Amino acid sequence: MKIYDTLTGEKREFVPLHEGRVGMYVCGPTTYDYAHIGHARPAIVFDMLRRFFEYRGYDVVLISNITDVDDKIINKARERGEDPIEMAHYYAQEYLRDMDVLRVRRANIIPKATRHIEEIIELVKTLVEKGYAYESDGDVYFSVEKFKDYGKLSHRKLEDMIAGARVEVSEKKRNPMDFALWKAAKPGEPSWPSPWGQGRPGWHIECSAMSMTYLGPTLDIHGGGADLIFPHHENEIAQSEAATGKVFARYWMHVGLVRFEEEKMSKSIGNVFLIRDVLKKYPPEALRIMYINSHYRKPYEFSEKNLEDAKTLVEKIWSTFYSLQKAAEDGEASEEVKKKIEETRERIILALEDDFNTREAMKHYLDFLNFARNLDGEDAKAALDFLKEMDEIFAILPQESSLGIEENLIELILEVRNLLRKEKNYALADKIRDELANLGIKIEDTKNGSLWYRTR
Ligand SMILES: [Zn+2]
Repeated sequence: MKIYDTLTGEKREFVPLHEGRVGMYVCGPTTYDYAHIGHARPAIVFDMLRRFFEYRGYDVVLISNITDVDDKIINKARERGEDPIEMAHYYAQEYLRDMDVLRVRRANIIPKATRHIEEIIELVKTLVEKGYAYESDGDVYFSVEKFKDYGKLSHRKLEDMIAGARVEVSEKKRNPMDFALWKAAKPGEPSWPSPWGQGRPGWHIECSAMSMTYLGPTLDIHGGGADLIFPHHENEIAQSEAATGKVFARYWMHVGLVRFEEEKMSKSIGNVFLIRDVLKKYPPEALRIMYINSHYRKPYEFSEKNLEDAKTLVEKIWSTFYSLQKAAEDGEASEEVKKKIEETRERIILALEDDFNTREAMKHYLDFLNFARNLDGEDAKAALDFLKEMDEIFAILPQESSLGIEENLIELILEVRNLLRKEKNYALADKIRDELANLGIKIEDTKNGSLWYRTR
């Protein structure tokens, strides 16, 4: 497997620290509002990457944090007259629910900053003791000049950064690029006791403290959105490596940002592109496919058309899936089908092992789908099994409902509709089809009888 590493700027063979294991840390959201579809992209990419590693037989430990104390949270809570941490925890819960619906499997550990204050203080203490950080009026800053590799991830030189710095001038800082590890409490803000007085952690330090708590000083893959490269990840490297003297992350993976067509976005800004609103109109799998169909490192230009197209693909995949399910019989598949499956599997794996090229993998998947669409009997069964196998990685096939009642009712309605068709009462049969479509249940009349699937 080759991974493009932001730090070295090249694709490198992936070699984990411990054979057969992958330790991943992915920066999660600062929760002060509902998640929008931009948040879904890194979540879906790293979910798929984790699934792929597992498919390839690795044990994966994924840590993904929630930032639950931060200026944005404090400001919003103040506007609303709410408790900042309670508010952050409410939105964290809602974020996780949205991700559940998107079939993003929950990380092994989802640490919150406010639950790791002790570890954070310990790390800041170490940095002060080693001379990398200094206290100033109740704040503690990291001294970027002391860390000679500062800028290595974002490929910037410290002198240039200082020259171009528009960082707010603070008399508390020795260098304008120094960043806060600990902030002295202001009245009314959440705060904790520390050796430097009451205060709260800066944003960057939490990820270093929490990743080291769960994964040790060196982790395999550190991921996040491309907007985190600077300053967040640059600062994480500086403070972590200054504290431990060890390589912090062996590979840095960054997911391109989602851009919205500005005009259209501003017209419908706010609720329309919240994940929960999008999911009223589109199946979660459409959002997955939309992002799977792009290269993770490239910026993504969002448009509703892309989402429409992805929905059409979902319908195509599901209709093939259901039609195969109807036609499948146990037994030995033909050589031709077995060969096609093997070929496709190999191509998908090759694509994913080349810096996780999901777009290329999807091409091979869809090519297989076209091939499989009209198979029946043992061949249909083999194709179906292969699609299910691939779904360990993609998670785009329909999910089995935990309750059978709905399915049974729909089957009953279909039976009635077929009787109506036999009696040539097409008007009523069509009405049933259209009304079900309005409810998000699509009926297709095929040579194997009527099949149905959910479109949202
Ligand atoms: Zn982070």
